[in-house]
Amino acid sequence: MRLQGRVALITGTGSGIGRATALRFAAEGARIVGVDIAPSNEETVDAVRAAGGEAIAVRADVAVESDVAAAFGRAEAEYGGIDVAFNNAGIMLDADTDAIATADETIDRTFGVNVKGVLYGCRYAVEAMRRRGGGSIINTASFVASVGAATPQIAYTASKGAVLSLTRELAVVHARENIRVNALSPGPLRTEMLMSFLDTPEKRHRRLVHVPMGRFGEADEMASAALFLASDDSSYMTGANLQVDGGLTAAYVTPE
Ligand code: NAD
Repeated sequence: MRLQGRVALITGTGSGIGRATALRFAAEGARIVGVDIAPSNEETVDAVRAAGGEAIAVRADVAVESDVAAAFGRAEAEYGGIDVAFNNAGIMLDADTDAIATADETIDRTFGVNVKGVLYGCRYAVEAMRRRGGGSIINTASFVASVGAATPQIAYTASKGAVLSLTRELAVVHARENIRVNALSPGPLRTEMLMSFLDTPEKRHRRLVHVPMGRFGEADEMASAALFLASDDSSYMTGANLQVDGGLTAAYVTPE
């Protein structure tokens, strides 16, 4: 029960990492505020409750500041404060390709959700955590913030680089307020986001050859890493980029 008595606001709880983390944090004793734009969020909250946990669902678009403010306001009103904010919601658009072909609207939407959405989450988390006396903020970046892909999604990649750098700066600014800010950089995962995109064995193989472990990661494995960053187990960590990627960012030549 590493999060006993804590309140965790998680974005993107309708699917993938966010859903797995909501279930995991609740099993560790946290009360969950699940934030998502999709109706599937209600199913996640039902699943948390069915497993004996406490959770509320908030419909919000993280790219809209007033939605984010309302979500944090609801969390404080219902549960009295926020100890953990996991800014995890993110998008990768089909029209996002290389620097020549990617249209402004694709870049703007990607940055709206992946960068401004995370920044808004940090803004309201810092304010709430000041009232609480501290807390842990976790921002989901990606391995593509650290290594280049010849299968480009330039807006997505740039947005995740921004998540890493804003995470570092916030960590330093708020370090003496007992507020920790860390990034989680997943490798390629077997979640809806990537599998709907890698829809042929060839596309999947093109990626897997670069992963030393030779398999995609699971959302549950990201939930374990997020739990570490959320809990006091990581009490001396801030400004870090936790890379949970099957060895991808460490690799040059991978095993046959
Ligand atoms: P997913 O698509 O399974 O889940 C993302 C969730 O975010 C969905 O429920 C979606 O409705 C929600 N969401 C999207 N836009 C939103 C918005 N504007 N406001 C509120 N909610 C919104 O994806 P996932 O694989 O669980 O990804 C979670 C995070 O992990 C993302 O930031 C993603 O970029 C990152 N990531 C994923 C992978 C991967 O391989 N899947 C790898 C590295 C990083």
